[in-house]
Amino acid sequence: MHLSGRAVYNGIVMKEEKEQEKGPLSGAEKPGDSGLSNLRPKKLDDFIGQEEVKKRLSILLEAALNRGDSVDHTLFHGPPGLGKTTLAHIVSHEMGVNIKTTSGPAIDKPGDLAAIVSNLTPGDILFIDEIHRLRRNVEEVLYPAMEDYKIDIVIGEGPSAQSIRLDVPPFTLIGATTRTGLLTSPLRDRFEVVLHLDFYDIDAIEEIVLRGADLLDVEINDGVGGANEIAKRSRGTPRIANRLLKRTRDYAEVRADGYIDREVAKEALEMLGIDEKGLDKLDRKILKTIIEKFDGGPVGIDTISAALSEQKDTISEVYEPYLLTKGFLERTSQGRKITTKGLEHLGYDDQRLL
Ligand code: ADP
Repeated sequence: MHLSGRAVYNGIVMKEEKEQEKGPLSGAEKPGDSGLSNLRPKKLDDFIGQEEVKKRLSILLEAALNRGDSVDHTLFHGPPGLGKTTLAHIVSHEMGVNIKTTSGPAIDKPGDLAAIVSNLTPGDILFIDEIHRLRRNVEEVLYPAMEDYKIDIVIGEGPSAQSIRLDVPPFTLIGATTRTGLLTSPLRDRFEVVLHLDFYDIDAIEEIVLRGADLLDVEINDGVGGANEIAKRSRGTPRIANRLLKRTRDYAEVRADGYIDREVAKEALEMLGIDEKGLDKLDRKILKTIIEKFDGGPVGIDTISAALSEQKDTISEVYEPYLLTKGFLERTSQGRKITTKGLEHLGYDDQRLL
C-alpha cells in the first residue's frame, strides 16, 4: 500500500506510505488496482503457478489441520505483485481462521504491535507486509511473541520501570518482503517456513490472464492470441498481467467491439509504451542512461538514481529484478553493467561499450 496519512484497515491503525511514482509495469500496488482484488484466488487450487511453493504450503496446511494446530510462522519473499498477500489470505481461508493485516512501516511503537498481537484470537493470522521495514524496537516485540506466545511490557518510567511478561493467544505470523537481505537474522531465524516466489513463466501468466478475462467477462482468444500477447508483456507478474488485461479491455471496448485478439492487445499495449519484452519507458530509460551516460557501466545504483531523478528503492526493488532476470543488465561488484542482450534490445550495435 502506498498512500499517505493514516487509515484503519481490518481494525488495525495503519500509517500508510507516500505514493511512489510507478509506471504501468511496476509490480507494486497502485491506487487503480483496488478493483483487482476481486481477481484474487481464494483457494490454493485456484492459485496458478509457483508449483513448489504450493506443494510445500499444502503439506503445511494439511499437517496443521490434522494436528488441530495453527500453521507455522511463514515468510514469503520475492518481487512485488507475485502473490505474497494472496497466499497469506489463502492460508487464512483454507485454515478457516481470521487474518489481520498490517505493514512494517505502519507500526510506530512497540506498544502498537503489542496491542495488535494481544487482540488476536487464538489461531488468527497476523500478516505483516514489508516486514523488513519494521523498526528494530518494534521487531523485538515479535521475538518472544513468535517463540513462546508472550510479550514483554514495560510499566512505569525511570528507575521504577518494571517489565512484565504477558501471554498472547497462539497465532501465526505471515511476513512478506521484497528484500530478505534487509531482514535481521533474529527475525528471519524465527520463521519456521521460508518460501520464495519467483517470476512466473509465460504459460502460467497466460492462464492468469484467461482466468481474469473469465472473471471480468472479457472476450479474449486464448493460446496464440490476445492472452499470449498480454502475458508476454507482463514481466512474469500476475498483478501486471491483470492490470494490462484491464487496460486492453478498455482499448478493445472503444476500438474493437470489446473483443481482444493478438492485434488489439498489441496495439493497446504499444500505446501504453510497453514493448514486446514487457519493458516500459522507465526500464528503457534506465538501460539507455547506463549506455549513453556511463559508457555501458559499471555504474553504482546511487548514480543511476541521481541521473534519472528516480528513487533508488524503486529502481532496485521494482525495475531491476526483471531486467536482471531477462539478462539485460548485470550486477557486478563495481555496479550495474549493460549486457549484449540489453544493447541489442534497445537497437545499439556498438560493441565497444562492452
Ligand atoms: P504481492 O503481495 O506479492 O505484492 P499480491 O498477492 O497482492 O502480490 O498479488 C497481486 C495480484 O495478482 C492479486 O490481486 C491477485 O489477483 C493476482 N495474483 C497473484 N498471484 C496470482 C496467481 N498465482 N494466480 C492468479 N492471480 C494471482
